[in-house]
Amino acid sequence: MLNSIEQAELGSKVVLCRFDFNVPIVDGEIMDDTRIRRALPTIEYLLNQNAKIIITSHLGRPKGIVVPSLSLRPVALYLENKLDQPVNFVDKIVGSEVRKAVGGLRLGLDNIVVLENTRFDKREKSNDPEFAKELAALADIFVSDAFGTVHRAHASTVGVANYLPSFAGFLVNDEYSRISEAMKNPVNPTIAIIGGSKVSTKLDMINNLMEIADTIIIGGGMIFTFLMAQDKEIGKSLVELPMIDTASDLIVKAEAMGVRLIIPKDIRIGKDLRTPILEEREAKIVNNDKIPLDAMGLDIGKDAEKEIIEIIGTAKTIFWNGPMGVFENELYRSGTEKITRAILNRNVTTIIGGGDSVYALNMITSEPIPSNIHVSTGGGASMELLSGIDLPGIECLKSK
Ligand code: ADP
Ligand code: MG
Repeated sequence: MLNSIEQAELGSKVVLCRFDFNVPIVDGEIMDDTRIRRALPTIEYLLNQNAKIIITSHLGRPKGIVVPSLSLRPVALYLENKLDQPVNFVDKIVGSEVRKAVGGLRLGLDNIVVLENTRFDKREKSNDPEFAKELAALADIFVSDAFGTVHRAHASTVGVANYLPSFAGFLVNDEYSRISEAMKNPVNPTIAIIGGSKVSTKLDMINNLMEIADTIIIGGGMIFTFLMAQDKEIGKSLVELPMIDTASDLIVKAEAMGVRLIIPKDIRIGKDLRTPILEEREAKIVNNDKIPLDAMGLDIGKDAEKEIIEIIGTAKTIFWNGPMGVFENELYRSGTEKITRAILNRNVTTIIGGGDSVYALNMITSEPIPSNIHVSTGGGASMELLSGIDLPGIECLKSK
């Protein structure tokens, strides 16, 4: 259990808040405000509790120097509009101007200040204790609601927790409790659908989910490393040669553990990422042992879709990370789309994570997501949680 914001005495206190406002900004305009919207319940709660609020976040990868296009000023403007109240912005992270702005916060009138991008200072990523101490000295309490960065031990996500009573905001609490509950007490049958581009980036997650799930379904670009481990011809498909032995080991391990490992039976192919091979205006489908030498596997085929949809149809707990194919191209979106629809229809306890998976989900449906289904805001963070790793930005919010 995390220390929750609801346990904190907040009235008249200065609260240092860390959010993940790493949103796409083009010419000062926020292109996707999902991450800010997901943080609003915490900000609104702090306002209702009469706290003074300091907002911090990183944005992009400025590598420890000031990059004007990565300023958080547009986020301050966005919040001002959204909350319909003044929001101050200081183009510094620490120092006298920041102390002055925090000192000037007035309850009920003018009680929010947004600081500049924490990664404009190289001491953020090195989790420099002096930097963390200076940030912490601005406030009485630390609230972390930056789920997207809880897997990183940085000064503003973890360092400050050494100096202040620390609490989880509503988003971090919700993400952590839903993901860890699904892992600890899954209702069986439990399935994990793991796709995306590479085995190497998802290996820890596959291993850990094998301990939890009855069935593991492999999709996406990693299919071909598994097919090669089974001595099948994969043509020009994506493959990680150094991971072939690992894939063989996973096949053996699954069998030894009695876990059903599903490798798609058939595959939609193309000449390369940009040049489809068509058959009656759809991408050509071949059996997984019939991929031509000059072709590339780009999505799962219809038989594989059918098999996976049936498995989803009886599952009681579902973990899904990684698209089934190159969904960015309409011709190779079918696998990801069918699986998305089957998961939404099934509406059992489901954890969906992964930046591209959530992007695909939003591309496929604009309907409200049923309440049993949790769509994580943190790609890397949710993947590390599902890998069974303790995350520094979560551990620092547990009672000591
Ligand atoms: P996530 O961000 O959800 O964790 P990944 O980053 O691991 O997912 O993988 C997403 C990418 O994998 C997408 O850009 C998609 O086009 C690509 N991909 C899926 N299937 C294939 C394939 N068969 N060959 C090459 N790339 C693929
Ligand atoms: Mg990705």
